[in-house]
Amino acid sequence: MNKKLKPLKGLTLKELQDLFVSEGEAKFRALQVFNWMYNYKVTSFHDMNNVSLSLRNKLEDEYSLLTLSMVEKAVSSDGATVKFLFKTNSGSIIESVIIPDEKRTTLCISTQVGCPLDCKFCATGLMGYKANLSAGEIFDQYLLASKNYASPITNIVYMGMGEPLLNYDSTVKSLSIFSEELTKGISLKKITVSTSGIPERIRNLADTNLKVKLAFSLHSCFENIRSEIMPINDKYSLKSNLEAVDYFLKKTGGRVTYEYVMLEGVNDRKEDLTALIKLSRRMPAKINLIPFNSLAHMNPEGMSGRLKPSTKDRIELFADKLRDENITVMLRNTKGQDIAAACGQLAIKFGDK
Ligand code: SAH
Ligand code: SF4
Repeated sequence: MNKKLKPLKGLTLKELQDLFVSEGEAKFRALQVFNWMYNYKVTSFHDMNNVSLSLRNKLEDEYSLLTLSMVEKAVSSDGATVKFLFKTNSGSIIESVIIPDEKRTTLCISTQVGCPLDCKFCATGLMGYKANLSAGEIFDQYLLASKNYASPITNIVYMGMGEPLLNYDSTVKSLSIFSEELTKGISLKKITVSTSGIPERIRNLADTNLKVKLAFSLHSCFENIRSEIMPINDKYSLKSNLEAVDYFLKKTGGRVTYEYVMLEGVNDRKEDLTALIKLSRRMPAKINLIPFNSLAHMNPEGMSGRLKPSTKDRIELFADKLRDENITVMLRNTKGQDIAAACGQLAIKFGDK
């Protein structure tokens, strides 16, 4: 492919309109192209058959619609979970996962190649930070996954590789594309952005008025323990994050989801349960208890190698006790483990090749 082509995918409607107008094209052409690119998922300008031929030729000469190519599609042995490995134009490998359940088909997408935040339980963290994805690369995961899956994707979670709020501009741009009435596929109500907690960015996201859902990676209610497993907590404390989450909920309504990876002896003790119940009452919340996928095989040295998953009984005890307190609990199952599709195991094996 000609490397000089500029990426068109990733532009918001407003940006497309400004671009077309600045090039002397009619504004409504931007809507047409937007529709073809993000709704009809075409990958060639020549398929945009209500756009004038001269404009199609011009676009073809200067712009590209391709941001990702599929490297692999792996299906779990139960046939339910599908993992896609995509390659960016600069050669990085990223991963998206489709996790269906009875009610919905959820796509988990990545926002960065690797992640700088080094959470001790996370495989992506072990990789370190490699690159930010563009808005086009973020959105394209949805387009390509939709094209290669039998049923429609109904929900999206920004929970794959990377910290979305450290790639804030591209994340917000991709959300803005989803927010257009024209993008018929998915409404913002069905989209969740997950963060390990950058308070200022949580506030900024609230101020955009893009009414997405927020998931906050809590993992411990105690500052010192959270700092041990999530070094970013030393910079942005749990307290400051909870204030930002409060702000987000006041602005957007709804509930926050607390993600909680269950780690034996670290955050699954009696005092952790008591603290979790107390924290859940602070503001409208639901809790996502997540079985930990051990990283011992990847990094036997250091803390990551020592972390162990809580027992099934312990996880169920937490779920029962929280439910007794009328707190909504979701127990994430470990579907797809056979293809390393579970969060935190993303693209690592392939990226090393
Ligand atoms: N950076 C963002 C979003 C990506 S990580 C964040 O931290 O929220 C999303 C989730 O992946 C984390 O909340 C955590 O719940 C999960 N995760 C990471 N490593 C995991 C592991 N080894 N086992 C199970 N879940 C893991
Ligand atoms: Fe980054 Fe999220 Fe993994 Fe932490 S859990 S290292 S923030 S991707």
